[in-house]
Amino acid sequence: MPDTNPLSYITSALDEIKAAGGFFRLRQLQSACEPVCRADGREVINLASNNYLGLANHPKLKEAAEKAVREFGVGSGAVRTITGTLAMHIELEEKIAAFKHTEACVVFQSGFTANAGTVSSVLTPNDHIISDALNHASIIDGCRLSRAKIHVFRHRDAAHADEILTGLAGEPGSKLLITDGVFSMDGDIGPLDQLVPVAEKHGAIMMIDDAHSSGVLGANGRGTVDHFGLHGRVQIQVGTLSKAIGALGGYVCGSRDLIDYLYHRARPFLFSTSHPPAVTAACLAAFDLLIAEPERVQLLWDNTNYFKQMLKQEGFDTGLSETPIVPIIVGETKAAMDYSRALFDEGLWATGIGFPTVPQGLARIRAIVTATHTRAQLEQSVDILKRVATRMGLPGL
Ligand SMILES: *Cc1c(COP(=O)(O)O)cnc(C)c1O
Repeated sequence: MPDTNPLSYITSALDEIKAAGGFFRLRQLQSACEPVCRADGREVINLASNNYLGLANHPKLKEAAEKAVREFGVGSGAVRTITGTLAMHIELEEKIAAFKHTEACVVFQSGFTANAGTVSSVLTPNDHIISDALNHASIIDGCRLSRAKIHVFRHRDAAHADEILTGLAGEPGSKLLITDGVFSMDGDIGPLDQLVPVAEKHGAIMMIDDAHSSGVLGANGRGTVDHFGLHGRVQIQVGTLSKAIGALGGYVCGSRDLIDYLYHRARPFLFSTSHPPAVTAACLAAFDLLIAEPERVQLLWDNTNYFKQMLKQEGFDTGLSETPIVPIIVGETKAAMDYSRALFDEGLWATGIGFPTVPQGLARIRAIVTATHTRAQLEQSVDILKRVATRMGLPGL
């Protein structure tokens, strides 16, 4: 028999990934997601999670989730449009809408499905999407699914977006201008203050993906629109419940009509089962905490500033970061991956990121600070970063 494995090309593709130094194993977390956690059998300082406010293991969220399980069970039983809309789903949507100062909100199973489901249902093949070059994969997939014409503007370059929209003046169809609020690889902020006037000038829909800005930017962590004082001027706001909010999910905020339309047309909403009670209850408790304890957000920023200041003193290059996402630029992909592995062995968990996720030559370690790290843990992290970089002779460090 000849080799008839129809998937043999997958093995060749994997070999290519391995040759390029991009192959990884999944590390296993063996404790709760905390500033110090256990993973792959060792205790490490965790600078790799998106648990910005330390809510993933917060007693109030856990208590709410446990209570929801006891009362309502573990599954919702159906998609939202059949029997899968629990009263608490609506309560969460109303709470988020009020928090974001918008008319209405729809919760999706994840931030990914919120983006992909929204862009693909709001735009048609006759329309145009003007998208930042570094927008998240879920936006890109949504754009592709919509089959609208995609125009990419240079990263954070509102003048370029303006130029593209000017070139499209007179073209039929809707135009959507879309950016991440905070970019996940560099930790820089989308220039919403410059993009909104461009969208308004051209009558384009403005959409923001606040996955890394919810719970991080703005009063009480309300996100980029609040940070820039642009309430009422951004038609579609996406956020995630999976990062700072500590649980799982995504949401879209906007007008009542937008949300009603998504209830009828967004495919992940229509064709995939809704959140289990525990997740929804945990999210409700998280928003209560954001409102009651805004000092968590301040702690996050105090820790971020403290950590970055120490890194700068040690001569590390933290790139364009303006947020708790702190890249430490190393250069080549293999060097970044080796550095990340060596850091882990010394007790620091920080993700290595290389090409093609980031451009050639800009491979990095990405450290994410949280509100719950102690000063001592951050100091120790910088010590480890410095010690391992020196030992490895990393260029520029
Ligand atoms: C993480 C992320 C998402 C996806 O959110 P999930 O809730 O994890 O699916 C979407 N957009 C951006 C910019 C993200 O960083």
